[in-house]
Amino acid sequence: MPQHHTADTEVVVIGGGQAGLAAGYHLRRAGLDFVILDADTAPGGAWQHTWDSLHLFSPAAYSSLPGRLMPPQPGETYPDAAHVVAYLTDYEQRYDLPVHRPVRVAGVHRDGARLRVETDSGTWRARAVISATGTWSRPFIPAIPCRHGFQGTQLHTVEYERPSDFAGRQVIVVGGGNSAAQIAADLAYDSDLTWVTLREPRYLADDIDGRALFDHATARRKALDEGRTDNGGVASLGDIVAVPPVRTARDTGLLKPQPLFTRLTATGVEWPDGTTADADAIIWCTGFRPALSHLAPLGLRGPRGHIPTAGTQALADPRLHLLGYGDWTGPASATLIGVGRPARDAALAIAELLH
Ligand code: FAD
Repeated sequence: MPQHHTADTEVVVIGGGQAGLAAGYHLRRAGLDFVILDADTAPGGAWQHTWDSLHLFSPAAYSSLPGRLMPPQPGETYPDAAHVVAYLTDYEQRYDLPVHRPVRVAGVHRDGARLRVETDSGTWRARAVISATGTWSRPFIPAIPCRHGFQGTQLHTVEYERPSDFAGRQVIVVGGGNSAAQIAADLAYDSDLTWVTLREPRYLADDIDGRALFDHATARRKALDEGRTDNGGVASLGDIVAVPPVRTARDTGLLKPQPLFTRLTATGVEWPDGTTADADAIIWCTGFRPALSHLAPLGLRGPRGHIPTAGTQALADPRLHLLGYGDWTGPASATLIGVGRPARDAALAIAELLH
């Protein structure tokens, strides 16, 4: 691909993770001309960057994109991240999806009847855009007093790789969600672990995994479609899926949550009553924000930093769809099995707009 070319197409999909691929599958079925632009050098989206021990919280058959079941991983009920990367790599080859890598989108601009997508390797002019850039590239760490006075190591979920990096060290893991619980369980055996949560951890029942979460999200979508009462989404069930390593560490008494500290010190953290704990490292498992800066030129951001949508479609510009990110673009749209339906809705809405 020449460096500074300009090309015209019907649809540009920004992001070639699972959401971008699901979009590609449905755009192809809708007969639309499209490209997928992905900033990574290899297939797999965020899954290629996660920590070594990460396993899905659903079995393979419940982690599939449209058209092709994820094959089971031999010996594992819950596949690992490498298995997901292999599945996504195969998926884009099998459907011959036109993914361009590495291409980072810098900005999407209005250009008459078209949207102009400017990247580090040229410009595409499209009649519609699907943004599917995920959240992995926007780690979030809350403001906390003296955060930069701590002299040890601070890292976010996105930088954590394996427990051996922290063996024998004092580590504080911050956060009450799945990433925090899984990383705390990873570190509980060989490190001196302190696990800090904003509120008492809310485990889902041990027999609930991603299958039940998906069923719950499906019921919610149906209720919303039919104008019935919102059941509150999957968050109403709890925050932490008790995947086997988390359950084992918890049941062995290795996961004892402490309340949130009030500030960092040079050597660790301090709680409101003056108690302190020293640490070599603090791992912030405090979540993500949607990666939307490339859409800033369109000026569509709403009050919570989200772009207001009806389903996937931006309210203020019907040529733009948002896919993945979170429940605000459709129930369970930021999961492997859940992204298929909103991807189809987006492709059909674009086909209707363009033809
Ligand atoms: P990503 O996988 O992040 O893909 C986005 C792509 O966009 C990337 O390839 C990136 O390079 C590209 N990109 C970003 N910015 C630009 C730009 N400006 N220009 C061009 N390209 C760009 N879901 C499940 O279904 N089951 C699970 O068990 C599960 N476990 C999870 C565990 C963790 C720790 C996390 C964080 C999430 C988990 N999820 C799970 C949720 C979700 O499935 C993943 O976050 C998934 O990676 C989201 O896919 P995506 O395609 O939306 O985003």
